[in-house]
Amino acid sequence: MPLFQCDNCGTMDNTALSECGYEQMNYFLEDPVLINKYKKEFGLKEDEPFGNYCSGCCPLGEQKWHGEFDRIYLPKGEFETAPKGNLRHKQTLDEAIEKFAIKIERE
Ligand SMILES: [Zn+2]
Repeated sequence: MPLFQCDNCGTMDNTALSECGYEQMNYFLEDPVLINKYKKEFGLKEDEPFGNYCSGCCPLGEQKWHGEFDRIYLPKGEFETAPKGNLRHKQTLDEAIEKFAIKIERE
């Protein structure tokens, strides 16, 4: 499953391991009351799109890191999902993301 960067804390997560993964998100996005509540929590305006959130930030789950791999904090907004599903640095397309880490919480 593809990796992504959390729009709230900047960590890398896997769509299969966050409650904010694809299937759950589709259900969730259809509930305007819930989504506005969570937008407020994340400091988003009502017309701003809801982002992608890691298991530590996803409001659908326990907001606890899953612990399946290290939690790597990266500079927010600088990473994207590469075509093969890895995470890469937007500017350099570098997939060796650990060297950009701000902080790593080891499991
Ligand atoms: Zn997060």
